[in-house]
Amino acid sequence: MSKYTPEQVKNLVDGKLDWDTTLRMLSMPKDPERFELYIQALQKKLDWKDRIVLPLGPHLYIVQQAKTKRWVTQCDCGHVFCDWNENWKMHANLYVRETEEAMTQVYPKLMAPDTAWQVYREYTCSQCGTLHDVEAPTPWYPVIHDFEPNIDAFYKEWVNLPLPERSN
Ligand SMILES: [Zn+2]
Repeated sequence: MSKYTPEQVKNLVDGKLDWDTTLRMLSMPKDPERFELYIQALQKKLDWKDRIVLPLGPHLYIVQQAKTKRWVTQCDCGHVFCDWNENWKMHANLYVRETEEAMTQVYPKLMAPDTAWQVYREYTCSQCGTLHDVEAPTPWYPVIHDFEPNIDAFYKEWVNLPLPERSN
């Protein structure tokens, strides 16, 4: 099995890796070292000392807080949304596109969905404004709780690493 250098993984995180190498890295099965390098590369780009447990999106992470060992969902900028097992969307700023005018900022006119049937919900960080997720549900649909990652199983069975300590 081929190994990757921290430099290559950093390039992957920065989106600078050539496509062949990216494909090989993504299609490779279970590889604990790759996950560690990936986390290290992400960690270097961030200003805080909290340890990444699992990336949830390009700018959103479950982290272990350095001081308290609490696991929380946290933004790039350091803003904490909530405990890791809560729905962070309930703690985000929400903008709902529910008028024709708001939709045509995203779609060309006449191509936009009928807002009686579909709206856009955009979830952003209240501190830095980063857009973390978009839902396109029917207007009455409750806030979607994406998934509760099985972190224990992920660490044990996939990356074969000790689970970071957790105080909550
Ligand atoms: Zn933020």
